[in-house]
Amino acid sequence: MSSRRPAAPGSAGPGLPLGGRLAAAAVAAVLLAAGCSAGGDRAEHASGEQEDTRPRPEGEPDELTEVDPAVVLDLGEERTAKDDRVRVEVSYPTVPNADPFNERLGEITGQEVDDFAAANPGARSISISGALTAAADDVVGVRFTQEEKDSEDPRTGYATFWYDALSGRTAFSTELLAGHEQLVALNGLVRDALKGRDEVAGAAIQPVLRVYDSMGFNPDGDLVVEFDAGQVAPAAAGRIAAVVPREQADPLLSEFGRRARAAATVVDSGFTLGAPPAPEDIPAPEAVPGVFPVTDDSVDCSAPEAKCIALTFDDGPGGRTAELLDVLRDNEVRATFFLTGGPIREYAPLVRREYAEGHELANHTVTHPDLAGTSPDRIAQELRTVNALIRRETGYQPDLMRPPYGSTNDGVRAISGEHGLAEILWSVDTNDWRDRNARIVADRAVKHARPGSIILMHDIHSTTIDAVPDIIRRLREKGYTLVTVSQLLGGTEPGQSYRHAHPEEPAADPSAAPSPSASESAGD
Ligand code: ZN
Repeated sequence: MSSRRPAAPGSAGPGLPLGGRLAAAAVAAVLLAAGCSAGGDRAEHASGEQEDTRPRPEGEPDELTEVDPAVVLDLGEERTAKDDRVRVEVSYPTVPNADPFNERLGEITGQEVDDFAAANPGARSISISGALTAAADDVVGVRFTQEEKDSEDPRTGYATFWYDALSGRTAFSTELLAGHEQLVALNGLVRDALKGRDEVAGAAIQPVLRVYDSMGFNPDGDLVVEFDAGQVAPAAAGRIAAVVPREQADPLLSEFGRRARAAATVVDSGFTLGAPPAPEDIPAPEAVPGVFPVTDDSVDCSAPEAKCIALTFDDGPGGRTAELLDVLRDNEVRATFFLTGGPIREYAPLVRREYAEGHELANHTVTHPDLAGTSPDRIAQELRTVNALIRRETGYQPDLMRPPYGSTNDGVRAISGEHGLAEILWSVDTNDWRDRNARIVADRAVKHARPGSIILMHDIHSTTIDAVPDIIRRLREKGYTLVTVSQLLGGTEPGQSYRHAHPEEPAADPSAAPSPSASESAGD
């Protein structure tokens, strides 16, 4: 899973929603309140972090702390540069004995470079530069600033990663928090903090990995959340930061988050680490806040009595997708969205919301071509770009694709497989693109539905949005459970093709023509 990006017209960013106004008195109160909140056993055994006599780092209230590289013994640097289609420069500090972290940062920055190039046809250059935001005790934090140049104005983004030398694990910024509920709570605090900023779109602030990929602490230990230029406000507004006062953030932090805060608020001169754990001893994360499973363990669609159905929506997001999401949320229904390139760019906040609300995101190409008649290179580019766009908005790596018009062949499936994607067709076509009539669309969806069906719709048509409440009600009356495609199919294999999960029929038939005729599938 990748996530990250950095961006910042550093100082140009208006920054401080709260931070700049934190009066000295308020800061003092915050510090007092924090005295009783030391987490992590280190801090507790060590008579409380407030007793720490080490000096405090320098820094602005709405910025993450900066570590003077001179305090780290034998600090190294990883530096790569290349000049292909896209000019690339990557550099970041490497702490001796933090090999698992140094290697992980190499993977992360490599993925980021690839995603930038894939997501932007006009990509010209990307520069990713890391700096230490914590280096004390057993914690290292590296904050990246990422400058991207393409055919649009240059953008700056940020991402911060954390290393726990005790476990050898690299943590995303969201892992400073105790769990997903705490991320949702933080999301509310951040929205409130930014409410007075007219340029900020509250709906763009969603509790997903990628949006919260840069968090750290200011020298006083307040939690600083920063967003890339263009992420939650127009790019011209630059970096947007929210400062959550220490006593408000404290109950949200994980044990590691408290240790990270302690490390980010002291200067540890002569910092060194012991040897890292062996790779096989490094634990995998249990659940990363802001990363959502697309399946629900409480539903078993493989049970004979299970009557699962997947609602799928193609070509969006569109102008009324937010209303559709309201309906799905109010009815606790999870759906699957096959997203197209232009709409992802136009409605990025809705893509984040779809993900945050438990829906499955899937790839429906950038330009909606007939893939069976498209060159292999172009097919690969179409798929790679949408995967990159989805990752850059949410952190999620899609594993399903749907060929436009259902037009596919062995080559399309093979290339999809190379991109980690299974092909998903459908067994019920509502023809909602042709019959712009909510009643007809609903009747068709309900009449042809049976256990294991995949129902094809498009959330770019207003009449489809109008049909969904009726479809949900009537399918539920018939005892159906509405689930994501991955849940319905119980797992998929890249390169394989699926049309339904009807129990008494073959689950996949890659050789069959997916769709009866061009006219019937013209709208998928
Ligand atoms: Zn389509």
